[in-house]
Amino acid sequence: MAILCDVYLLGMLAVSLRLLYVMLFNLDRYDYRYNRVDIAVVFILSNVLWPLFLRKPRLLFSPEDLFKPEFFDMAAITRNKDKLFENVPLCTNTILYRQGIGRCSTTYGEFVFDADDVEEVLNNKLVKNKHLYSNDEGAIAFWLNRRDKSNNTVCEAPRLWSRFSLLADELLRAGMGSVRCVECEMSIDIKTLVKNDTSGNPGWNFNKLECPNKHLLLEVETMHILMRKDSE
Ligand SMILES: [Zn+2]
Repeated sequence: MAILCDVYLLGMLAVSLRLLYVMLFNLDRYDYRYNRVDIAVVFILSNVLWPLFLRKPRLLFSPEDLFKPEFFDMAAITRNKDKLFENVPLCTNTILYRQGIGRCSTTYGEFVFDADDVEEVLNNKLVKNKHLYSNDEGAIAFWLNRRDKSNNTVCEAPRLWSRFSLLADELLRAGMGSVRCVECEMSIDIKTLVKNDTSGNPGWNFNKLECPNKHLLLEVETMHILMRKDSE
């Protein structure tokens, strides 16, 4: 029994040292900003329950995966956005935007906007909502301000700035930009876009733009409604 106890404690010490090494040298300030509680829980549980790792010995040697969020990794998104902001790509007078994966679904729209139009809509938004400077809108404004106004080639808006979708939605509904549906493999007259918006539903509501063949081109969140269940 004493030997088993020694083995357990030695294993705990080894796991503890390995996890501390990962926590010191593999995790960064983004992980600790967004996942501090999860990191602490993983560390404590892993120390106590380390014999369970014997079923997945890979985790003993490379436990980095233990600290990765299973679904939504806000630390990774913020880290990548900061990297993008430090090294913004070239912006030109013509901007291509593809949303790709929307909030819930794949979207099939390809949109081309005049950078002047995007800048005007964005500036109006920022004047009314100054707090957006600290969000994607601020980074997009910085990107647009540095654009090469002598360059008319097409540049693509980084998808990491997911709130560009809100600008795209506003521009398209104001009749600005050109549209292509990847599923139909053809250009779409902006006047024929189908609005399939939701409003007033419990949970998230969306603005959805579809091509005449019902392919979803753009999907943006508009409002989240919380519904209280009346007690019986
Ligand atoms: Zn289509």
